[in-house]
Amino acid sequence: NMARIAFIGLGHMGGGMAPNLVKAGHEVRAFDLSEDALSKACEQGCGRAGSTEEAVKDAEVVVTMLPAAKHVLDVYRSNVFGNAPTSALLIDCSTIDVASARTVEEEAKAKGYEMVDAPVSGGIAAAAGGTLAFMVGGSDEAFARAKPFIEPMAKAVIHAGGPGAGQAAKICNNMILGATMAATCEGFVLAQKLGLDPQVFFDISSQASGQSWSMTSYCPVPGVGPKTPADNGYEGGFAAALMLKDLKLAMEAAKQAGVDVEMGEEAEELYEEFVGKGGGNKDFSGIIKMIDGTWNA
Ligand code: NAD
Repeated sequence: NMARIAFIGLGHMGGGMAPNLVKAGHEVRAFDLSEDALSKACEQGCGRAGSTEEAVKDAEVVVTMLPAAKHVLDVYRSNVFGNAPTSALLIDCSTIDVASARTVEEEAKAKGYEMVDAPVSGGIAAAAGGTLAFMVGGSDEAFARAKPFIEPMAKAVIHAGGPGAGQAAKICNNMILGATMAATCEGFVLAQKLGLDPQVFFDISSQASGQSWSMTSYCPVPGVGPKTPADNGYEGGFAAALMLKDLKLAMEAAKQAGVDVEMGEEAEELYEEFVGKGGGNKDFSGIIKMIDGTWNA
């Protein structure tokens, strides 16, 4: 079932994802404003397009992996709509706010396209390895159409609900993650100040009610629990700046939905502070260094 797929946005994530569609036997026509990003993708088997318009012409599927909502709205409105055939299925994998995702999906529908939002969980390694988790928003028909094209890039493809539901699931999940990571860091820092050995505290709390993914799978303390970015000086992993981006999207959604999310807000403020102090490129668990007072940019 080989298809012509236009892939727009070949950065850290898209640059890993597009070659997995090539490996699955699809013909991928790639475009990125960055010549460097585009060249790397072409070295891995993608075909070079000179523009988004050229990439989407005659495409059966269009995949976008762009930085933020403004890029997504701009690329679809200015370059995809009217240039891709209306038979093309549109799949936006970028992480953007729920309202913008719904807006662009409505505009696509009005122009005769079927579209899904399909943000991902997992970082650069999962993008390259084809092991991302996709949360998909769209109609049952659109999801069924999109799934086989997403699968070569995924370890899991979950239908979250109607348009925008993929983005909603992603930002709510990451809001929980930001808050539990901050709380877990505080717990370890206080435990240590109270004289507890971090390993002993881990052994207790990871089997008690303080347990969470942030503790047992992504422990922010080096040498404790499975190997994590904490064991690598908080390098690699999920950048604090991206956590902050997702928390801001969650705060925006909460405001529009009229929901009080005080823990999420607190997490947003903590990450804002950490990024402001130069921690943006560090793994998000590195916030423990700010909490214990040893952070040095
Ligand atoms: P990135 O900045 O590395 O890549 C985005 C690419 O889009 C860049 O190469 C840029 O040149 C290109 N681009 C921008 N505007 C364009 C346009 N008009 N036309 C063509 N190309 C254009 O970002 P990334 O890290 O790959 O992240 C992409 C998305 O995935 C973001 O929404 C991010 O929040 C989300 N995400 C990232 C990670 C991660 O670990 N990096 C994890 C999960 C989700």
